[in-house]
Amino acid sequence: MTTTTTPTTPYVTNACQFCGASSTVELTAAEVAAWVTGAPIQDAMPDRPAPSRELVRNGTHPECWTAMFGSPE
Ligand SMILES: [Zn+2]
Repeated sequence: MTTTTTPTTPYVTNACQFCGASSTVELTAAEVAAWVTGAPIQDAMPDRPAPSRELVRNGTHPECWTAMFGSPE
């Protein structure tokens, strides 16, 4: 029985534009490598949901976005 665990690295985001707090997101080495070299967020981490990508991309917390604009749909 094998459990594959992908090692992750803490990535500190920019400050959230709404509450001013930055966040730490666990990203895989591949995600970090793609993102820091300028790949579009959807290419750097295609498996993440959009709110998670927004958090990495510009630091916006999904809950802050929802509080300000309502449902992200
Ligand atoms: Zn926030």
